[in-house]
Amino acid sequence: MNDENKITRRQAVAGLGTAIATAAVAPVFGAVNDKVMDNVKLEDPTTKYPKPPFKEQSQEWPGLASKMDPKPDHGETSYKGSGRLKGRKALITGGDSGMGRAAAIAYAREGADVVINYYPTEEPDAQEVIALMKAAGVKAIAIPGDLREESFCKKLVEDAIKALGGLDIVVSNAGRQQSHASILDISTEQFDWTMKTNIYAPFWIIKAALPHLPPGSAIIGTTSEQATDPTPDLYDYAQTKAATTNYVRSLAKQLAPKGIRVNGVAPGPIWTPLQVSGGATMEKLKMFGGQTPMSRPGQPVELASIYVQLAASDASYATGQIYGSTGGAGMP
Ligand code: NAD
Ligand code: MG
Repeated sequence: MNDENKITRRQAVAGLGTAIATAAVAPVFGAVNDKVMDNVKLEDPTTKYPKPPFKEQSQEWPGLASKMDPKPDHGETSYKGSGRLKGRKALITGGDSGMGRAAAIAYAREGADVVINYYPTEEPDAQEVIALMKAAGVKAIAIPGDLREESFCKKLVEDAIKALGGLDIVVSNAGRQQSHASILDISTEQFDWTMKTNIYAPFWIIKAALPHLPPGSAIIGTTSEQATDPTPDLYDYAQTKAATTNYVRSLAKQLAPKGIRVNGVAPGPIWTPLQVSGGATMEKLKMFGGQTPMSRPGQPVELASIYVQLAASDASYATGQIYGSTGGAGMP
C-alpha cells in the first residue's frame, strides 16, 4: 500500500469529506466495489413491485407460491451473494416459499449449505428451491414433515445435523395464520394448530439444536408487526408473534454467554402463500399492502438480506433484536 492510500484510509475511517474519501479509497477496495456495484442499482421502492388491487384468489392451506398471481419474488433471478455465509450450515423451516425461501436462496448464494423443511404437500415449491440452491454449488437438502409433532421436530434437527455435518444457523420461520372475524369462530383445534406451529415447534427445534450449536451460531425467528400491533381478525396468530418476539429477547440473554446470537425479523404485509390460503380475507387480499406508506405489499426477497445479516459473523454484537421490514407502517 502506498503512502497516499494509507493516509486516505485513515481519513475515511475518521469520517472526513466523502468526496475525498471515496476517490482515494477506491484503489484500495476497487476489486470489491466492482462486485458490489451489481447490487446497488438505484431503485424506487414505491414502483419496484406490484401494487393493489390484486386479483381474487384463494388456495387450500398451505398454498403454493407457484400458483399465486402475481408470483412472489424470492430473489430467484436477483439475489447475488458475496460469500458472507461461506461454510455455514443452516436449517430453515418453511423454506419452500415466502420469507423462508428468500432466506434459503440467499443463504445458498452466500455459500451456506442448507436444509429446508416444509409441509409435505408443498413438495413442488420445495423442489424449485432445492434446484436453485444446488445451482449455487452448495448442499441443498429437503426434509418434509409436520412441525406440529414433537417427535418430527427432534428428528428434523437430527437429520439436518447428519446431512450437513453440523449446524450453526437455525431459522425458525414456519408459521400458521388463519383469519377469523371473531374469537367465537376459533375452535380449540384451530387454536391448538396455531400454537403448535408457531410456539411449540420453535421450542422443540431450538431445544433439539442447542446442544449442537457452536459459539458463533445464530438463531433467527420470524415474528411479525402483529406482535405489537395486532389486527382484530388475528386473535390467536398475533399472540403467537408476541410470544416469538419475547422468546427472541429472553433466549438472547440466556445464550449470549455461550456465544450464540438470537434475533427476530418482523415483516409487515408480505405477498406469500400464507395470505392466500386463509391468512387474509378476500377483501384484505385484494387491497393487500395498500394501507402502508409504500402503498404495496413487500416481496419476500426484500427481507432476504436481513436474514443474511442476522446470521453473518460480522453482526457479532447484534442479539436480542427484532428487525422490522414493514413498508413504513408497524413497529418491530
Ligand atoms: P409461507 O406460507 O410462504 O410460509 C409459511 C411456511 O410455514 C409454509 O411454507 C410451510 O412450509 C410452513 N408450515 C406451516 N405449518 C407447517 C407445519 N405444520 N409443518 C411444516 N411446515 C409448516 O408464508 P410466509 O408469509 O413467508 O410465512 C413465513 C413466516 O412469516 C411465518 O412465521 C409468518 O407468520 C411470518 N409473517 C408473514 C407475514 C406476511 O405478511 N406474509 C407477515 C409477518 C410475519
Ligand atoms: Mg409454502
